[in-house]
Amino acid sequence: MKRREVIKNLSILPVSGVVLGSAIPFETALAMAAPPKRDIFKELGIRTFINAAGTYTALSGCIMHDDVVETIRYSSQKFAAIEECQDAVGKKIAEMLHAEAAMVTAGCWSALVLGTAGVLTGTDPKKVAQLPHLDNMKSEILVQKTHNHGYVHAPTNTGARIVEVETLQDIEKAINEKTAMMWFLNYAGPDGQIKDKEWVALGKKYGIPTMIDMAADATPVENLWKFHDMGFDLVCLSGGKGLTGPQSAGILSGKKDLIAAARLNAPPRGGNIGRGMKVNKEEILGMYVALEKFINRDHQKQWKIWEDRIAIMEKGAKSDPGVTTTVTVPPVANITPTLTISWDMTKIKVDANEIRNRLRKGNPSIEMMGGKENLVITSWMMRDGEDKIVAGRLVEELKKASA
Ligand SMILES: *Cc1c(COP(=O)(O)O)cnc(C)c1O
Repeated sequence: MKRREVIKNLSILPVSGVVLGSAIPFETALAMAAPPKRDIFKELGIRTFINAAGTYTALSGCIMHDDVVETIRYSSQKFAAIEECQDAVGKKIAEMLHAEAAMVTAGCWSALVLGTAGVLTGTDPKKVAQLPHLDNMKSEILVQKTHNHGYVHAPTNTGARIVEVETLQDIEKAINEKTAMMWFLNYAGPDGQIKDKEWVALGKKYGIPTMIDMAADATPVENLWKFHDMGFDLVCLSGGKGLTGPQSAGILSGKKDLIAAARLNAPPRGGNIGRGMKVNKEEILGMYVALEKFINRDHQKQWKIWEDRIAIMEKGAKSDPGVTTTVTVPPVANITPTLTISWDMTKIKVDANEIRNRLRKGNPSIEMMGGKENLVITSWMMRDGEDKIVAGRLVEELKKASA
């Protein structure tokens, strides 16, 4: 019997459990109807796990929305010109984000590099070809000392260098004819003396473009347009974190002339610093659908799902009397309910590193965050039902350790 016939017959399956007109038992018919499965992770011996950690690049970020996967599959069956994809998708994304223009990039990091490149080169093809050598060009980026770590390396890929500032006076002293841009790291916002609105106002006062890195900060949804409304010239966002789009995609959005300039530094063009930061039609269209699905999601309902999962895991952990739990929501970035679990180590005699290790090695494997003193869990990258599995494993391991 052909697969198609099996499926057709399944729809008229009688209660007897035998496919009508044949002697094939129900289970066999079902197995035949199921799409052929190849478990490649298993074949290759790659561990898969429940992600109670969050949107970490090393842990493969997020699970894409079903419609994104469908879009990738659909677009993979046709050819299209990349520039047309960027034009059309960029226009739609810009509307959704309250921006003048937008482009899909190879992650937020790539948005940071290409956006900075655009600021430095404008639409001058000679300057595009010249990067990362900035002779006779602007070359300095102002960054607050408390924002100057990790991701700031991205803008410096253009050849530009960071000039650290702390106070308003520092800024006024630092600004000169070489100053190209003012960079702001959203998650470090509370740590710096100068806050986002003031940063934008200073940029406008001195005629210097401002860029914000809000990679992991798509929640709450208003964040997606907040920084455009505030006046930032360029906004950089990850596609494969909270947005549950392609992990290797991101969005650069902002002023029309700056996006046009950034695109000159990006694929499909070559002879520029961005040629390696490629996004294909599948990711460009996938990013668009991810953003659309994210914005139109029932955010209250989603938040409640995340909270309910956290409550189930918290209850599990708390069933051990030596355990203390807290549920918090970070103030600026990665805004999602976050469970922290710690314990009295005279009662539960192993540290949190060891518990995480045991959960990682268990079946199913579970990943979470935290240090030696605590376990830190978020539920936004978990799938339905996994909260109960994690709760059960927490109970098991904590009990074993306190025995
Ligand atoms: C994740 C992250 C990035 C890099 O984003 P990708 O989408 O992984 O390229 C940049 N900045 C911050 C603050 C991030 O959290």
